[in-house]
Amino acid sequence: MKATIETKTYSNFINNEWIESASGKVIESINPATKEAVGYVQKSSEAELNQAVEAAYNAKKAWRKLGQAARGQLLFQTANILEARLDEIAESMTREMGKTLPEAKGETARGIAILRYYAGEGMRKDGDVIPSTDKDALMFTKRTPLGVVGVITPWNFPVAIPIWKIAPALVYGNTVVFKPASEAAVTAAKVVECFAEAGFPEGVLNFVTGSGSVIGQGLIDHPKLNAITFTGSESVGQSVAKAAAARGIKFQLEMGGKNPVIVTKNANLDQAVEAVISGGFRSSGQKCTASSRVIVESEVYNEFKQKLIEASEKITVGNGLEEGIWMGPCASESQFNTFNKYIEIGKNEGARLVHGGEVLTGGEYDKGFFVKPAIFEEVTPEMTIAQEEIFGPVIALIRAVDLEEAIELANNTKYGLSASIFTSDISSILEFIDEIEAGLVRINAESAGVELQAPFGGMKASSTGSREQGEAAKEFYTAIKTVFIKG
Ligand code: NAP
Repeated sequence: MKATIETKTYSNFINNEWIESASGKVIESINPATKEAVGYVQKSSEAELNQAVEAAYNAKKAWRKLGQAARGQLLFQTANILEARLDEIAESMTREMGKTLPEAKGETARGIAILRYYAGEGMRKDGDVIPSTDKDALMFTKRTPLGVVGVITPWNFPVAIPIWKIAPALVYGNTVVFKPASEAAVTAAKVVECFAEAGFPEGVLNFVTGSGSVIGQGLIDHPKLNAITFTGSESVGQSVAKAAAARGIKFQLEMGGKNPVIVTKNANLDQAVEAVISGGFRSSGQKCTASSRVIVESEVYNEFKQKLIEASEKITVGNGLEEGIWMGPCASESQFNTFNKYIEIGKNEGARLVHGGEVLTGGEYDKGFFVKPAIFEEVTPEMTIAQEEIFGPVIALIRAVDLEEAIELANNTKYGLSASIFTSDISSILEFIDEIEAGLVRINAESAGVELQAPFGGMKASSTGSREQGEAAKEFYTAIKTVFIKG
C-alpha cells in the first residue's frame, strides 16, 4: 500500500501554539514493518515542559469557570474532527506501531466514542444533595477539578489511551499537560491536532514530546502539577508512584498484566480457542489485557492444545496495512528483542515450544520486526514465562487437575488486571468470580476488550488508584467539596 501520509516533523503544542523545542533535536519514529521513518517529534527540554505547565496553570481558573456543559461541547467538536480524520489517523497508527489497519480503525473509533461519552458527562450531575439533620440547612456535595493534570501514556494504544485520560480530565474542569510515548508520538500529535482545531481556550491542553526521563519525570516533579495519570510498565509506574507520593499529589497508575484464561472440561473449546488466539496474538500480544497464560483442565488439555495450534497455523503475519494480514510486526526493535529474549528463556527453563517462536525471514519480512506467534507448553508456575509480562505474542499453556488448582495458578503472579474463564458450568463461573484476583473478570469472553462505559483497572501490581473509563473516572479527576448552607 502506497504511503498516503506525509513524513513530517511535529511540534509541541503549548498555549494553543505549535512550538519547536529550543533543543533543536527531534525523535525519529520508525515504521516497524519497514524500518522507514514515519515522522519526527520534538526532543524537548525542561524549558518547554515548564512553559507547558505554566500555560496549564494559568488557564485553569477560566477553564473551571466556563462550566461543565460548555467544556463538554468542545469534546463533541473534537470527536467530529477526529471522525473526519479516522482513516488517516488509523493509518498513521499502523505505520507507527504496527497493529493492523482494521484494529487501528477500531481503536480510533473507540477514541471518538470516548470523546462523545465524556462530552455527554458535561450535562450530567456533579454532586448530590444529602439530607441534613438541621431542618434549616442545605447540604450537598460538589465535584471540583484538581487543577493541572499530567498525562503520560504508552505506545500500544496511541489514540484510545490518551483520549480516555484527556477527555475526562478536561470535562471535569482540569487543564492538561500530555506527554505521549516517544514510539507513537506522531499519532499522538495528530490526536492533539484534533483538540487544537476544536478551539479549546489557550493553555487548556498542552502537548510536550521528549524522553521519559526528562519530560515524564520532570512533569511529575513539577511543583505546579496537581495530579498525574500514568499508563505504562510496572517498573516506570513504581517510580512515578514514588515521585508523586513524595510530592503528595494524586496519582493513578495502570500497568502490566499476566492475564490468565481458564478452560474447564465442559467449556466450548472452539469458542475458547478463538478467544485465546484473539486475546493472545492480536496487536502482536502487546496489550496490557493480552491473554498470556492459558490454564486448561487435564481432561481437555490435549484436544484444546491441538485446536489452538491448528488455529495459530492460520494466522497471517505481515505489514498491517495490507489486506488479509491478521497480525502485524512487533511494535519496535526493542519489542522484537524482548520477544526473542523470552523465547530463549522459555526454552532454557524447560518449557516446550509447540508452535512458532521464530523470527520470520525472506522478502518483505527482512525489512521489519516480524515473528511467528509462539505457544509454549509444559510451563510450570515458577518459570519466568509464567510470571513476567512479555508483552509479545507468546502464550504459555499450563495444565491443571481441576478448577480449584486452575484458579490457584491463575492467581499466582504479582499482577491482577484481566482474567477469563471458559466453562458452561454455572457453579464454576460463580466460584471464579469470587476467587479470581483481577479487576476485569470475563466469562466466556477473551481477556482483552472492555467497554468504554465500564470501570477499567486491575488489582495487585497492575493498578494503583481509582479506576479509569466511564463514570469511575470522575473519582480520579475531581475532588469532593461537602457544602453546608445554614438558612
Ligand atoms: P513505559 O516504558 O513504562 O512507558 C510509558 C510512558 O512512560 C511513556 O510515555 C514513557 O516515555 C514514559 N516514561 C518512561 N520513563 C519515565 C520516567 N522515568 N518518568 C516518567 N515517565 C516515563 O511503557 P510502554 O513500553 O510505553 O508500554 C508498555 C507497558 O504499558 C506494558 O507494561 C503494558 O502492560 C502497559 N500498559 C498498561 C495498560 C493498562 O491499562 N493497565 C494499558 C496499556 C499498556 P518514553 O516513551 O519517552 O520512554
